[in-house]
Amino acid sequence: MNFNSFALNEKFLPLLSAIGYSVPTPIQEQAIPLLLAGRDVMGLAQTGTGKTAAFVLPIVQRLQSGSRGKVRCVVVAPTRELAIQIHGVFEQFGPAFGLRSATVFGGVSAQPQLQNFRRGVEILVACPGRLLDHLRQSNVSLAAVEVLVLDEADHLFDMGFLPNIRAIINYLPKQRQTMLFSATMPDEVRHLALDVLNHPETVKIGGNALVSTVSHALYPVAAHLKTTLLLRLLEDLQSDSVIVFTRTKFRAKRLSEQLLKHGFRSTPLQGNMSQVRRQESLDGFRCGTFHILVATDIAARGIDVSGVSHVINYDMPDTVDAYTHRIGRTGRALHTGKAFTFCTDEDKAEIAAVERRLGCPIERKTLDGFDYRAREDQQQKTEFQRGPRPSSGRSPASRSRAQAPARTGGSMTAPGPARASGALTAPGSRAQAPSRASGTRSTETSQRSSLAPRRRTSARDYSVR
Ligand code: AMP
Repeated sequence: MNFNSFALNEKFLPLLSAIGYSVPTPIQEQAIPLLLAGRDVMGLAQTGTGKTAAFVLPIVQRLQSGSRGKVRCVVVAPTRELAIQIHGVFEQFGPAFGLRSATVFGGVSAQPQLQNFRRGVEILVACPGRLLDHLRQSNVSLAAVEVLVLDEADHLFDMGFLPNIRAIINYLPKQRQTMLFSATMPDEVRHLALDVLNHPETVKIGGNALVSTVSHALYPVAAHLKTTLLLRLLEDLQSDSVIVFTRTKFRAKRLSEQLLKHGFRSTPLQGNMSQVRRQESLDGFRCGTFHILVATDIAARGIDVSGVSHVINYDMPDTVDAYTHRIGRTGRALHTGKAFTFCTDEDKAEIAAVERRLGCPIERKTLDGFDYRAREDQQQKTEFQRGPRPSSGRSPASRSRAQAPARTGGSMTAPGPARASGALTAPGSRAQAPSRASGTRSTETSQRSSLAPRRRTSARDYSVR
């Protein structure tokens, strides 16, 4: 199948080939004909599947005729970064049809947004909070909206936006076409879908499965050795595009600083940064100024950066959905990617849940020559281990973990020999620590990276002060 097969205006074809889309992705194959026929659609698809173009193309086709200067389509997205990305896709196709798109989100001045409303736009890509502010102040009217898209509805729910979404919908005409996309379908999102969609068609790509273009590996390691292990892995990887996920904003900030200190071109992306700084980080990572992005889940939600070779979970995500989301940053649009997860004894339940979702055990890996037995008192204690951990919005399991007394290095254990599955006790437990000769050398570490710092340092050198 190719894009000729859809009843799309032929003006789309050169635009599609200019950006390198030759064949539709599976979600585009399924969703575009339904949306062109005016149907409501519930799309169960992860980011990275091409779902943005799956809704942008039919919307532009629909809006090509009709009035200008009124908002005729609203796309609601959970984060500013995702809103900017979606707006970028509208910008690839809309101008050829005289359609203008604008973003609306908080954390930046409202003035340019007000100017856009005055000038007149047909498409708004918005985060819920700021859009609702504008609506309540009558800065913009949504009375002429024909199409509503709720993107990443599960994340809108996670972030507590569903009441805002319902409030926004009250400003829209009842007669409209509605699309709701979500990677997962918690009950609250299902209820929202029942309320806002009119006899929808469901389009499901891969269900809840984890994207098949990504290979997974676990690196069992004691908590106090995570930074050392990360530095070693990064040193050995052949990559200039790696995203590292941490559990908290504080850890993202400090870890990025540490990587910088050790010669890696790293930048943080976390919710305490201003919107301008977040965008600078993301743009710098996209264009290759930075090779490593150290991010929290919220900040990295939905971001689309092509060519990310590795996602490294410095901290195990709290839920399978968060794992799915994180690893969805690599292996995008039919490329392959690798997902490494550092895990400690405390992560057993989360790992079992991910393995259940995957339907198979994840390979355990160790790094040859890495001293998994190094004790915490041999290193400077890192502030990462002592940093604040949020207690809200996390699973009971992770909350109890946050409250657990600090462990000492000796009891934690590091990675042992690679295992198929089962007990997680990391390589490093003294009894089972691999000898240098017998340790499974990760295939990731066979060649030095062009990014690697000039010298190979010891665990002591990597400690965070
Ligand atoms: P999305 O799931 O919308 O975030 O898209 C993920 C990535 O796939 C983006 O980088 C898109 O540019 C890319 N993409 C979307 N559709 C196609 C296509 N038909 N062919 C190749 N790449 C695509």
